[in-house]
Amino acid sequence: MGAEERPATRRERPKPQSAERSRLLGKVRQTRTAPEEAVARLLRAAGLGYRRNLRGLPGSPDFVNFARGFAIFVNGCFWHAHRGCRRATVPKNNRTFWVEKFATNRRRDAAAIRALRAMGFRVLVIWECDVAAAAARFARLVSRPASPVRRPRRAAAA
Ligand SMILES: [Zn+2]
Repeated sequence: MGAEERPATRRERPKPQSAERSRLLGKVRQTRTAPEEAVARLLRAAGLGYRRNLRGLPGSPDFVNFARGFAIFVNGCFWHAHRGCRRATVPKNNRTFWVEKFATNRRRDAAAIRALRAMGFRVLVIWECDVAAAAARFARLVSRPASPVRRPRRAAAA
């Protein structure tokens, strides 16, 4: 299914041929970003199933597992205005517009998280700026040789 199966002659990125095509390519990038793919790999490595971009749920979480009751957002630092992050810059032109827009985005994100929690979901927000480092830490953790830890008596039921 992946890009590997395409003939070699088509490997180069095709030039957008029209505004429509350009729009479609932009949309593809929006729905499957590199940080999201990294999180998808983590979930698969952990053997966790998920559904993606569920528009019927508040905020359309990027990953949802109903059986385990979790929802995950993978947030871009710019659009979601990650506090204290150097990627969360405010464009100099139309500054007021952007400040307001980011505030609206933050409020919308917070409302979605509250609504999901009210439905019983545990919600995890993973920021774009942290995903590569987190993925690397996770990969190191699971690639170590198994070194079983004896389960304490009290945790026997866990
Ligand atoms: Zn960030």
